[in-house]
Amino acid sequence: MIASSQSNHPLSGVKDFGRTANPLDQACARLRSAGLRITQPRIAILEALIQRNNPASIEQIHNDVTSDSCDLVTVYRCLAVFEELGLVRRCFFHNGTSLYEINLNDSPHYHIVCRSCGKVERIDVSLTDGVERMLRERGYQQVTHMVEFFGVCPDCQKKMAESNPLSPTIVR
Ligand SMILES: [Zn+2]
Repeated sequence: MIASSQSNHPLSGVKDFGRTANPLDQACARLRSAGLRITQPRIAILEALIQRNNPASIEQIHNDVTSDSCDLVTVYRCLAVFEELGLVRRCFFHNGTSLYEINLNDSPHYHIVCRSCGKVERIDVSLTDGVERMLRERGYQQVTHMVEFFGVCPDCQKKMAESNPLSPTIVR
C-alpha cells in the first residue's frame, strides 16, 4: 500500500483481493451495498483513512479532512457508521484513546505501540483464527476481538540509555 505500485511484484500477492478496484471504490461499494448514501464527508473521511493506512485518532482524521462542512461530530458519526459496517476497525490504546483504521480485505494484523513515544508499528501475524473459529462453532456470530501490544521501541531505549548511562537496558 506504500509507494510501490507494481502489482507484478511477488510480494504484492498478499493484497490481491484489494487490487480489483481502488480502495475508495471498494469502500463506496460497501456503503452502497449496505444501503448507505455516499456523502461528501464520508468520502473525505474514507480518503483520509486510506491515505494514512495506519490507526489514526478522530482528531487526526478531522485534521486530514480539510472541508469546512465536516466538523468533529460528523467525523465521529461517520466513523461509528463505518465501524458498524466493518469498514473501519477500532484499536484501543493504553492511554484510553481509540484509533481508527481502514479495513478493506486486509490480512489480519496487530499493532505494537511504544509506551514512550507512542509510535505504532504493524505486526503481520494472525493469532486468533483458531479462537474465532472455535467461537463460531459454539454458535457465536459477529465475533470480533481486540489485541494490542505495548513495549518500548529500540529508539526510545537508546535515548534512555544515553540520558542515563547507568541504565542496564543496553549493555552489549
Ligand atoms: Zn518509542
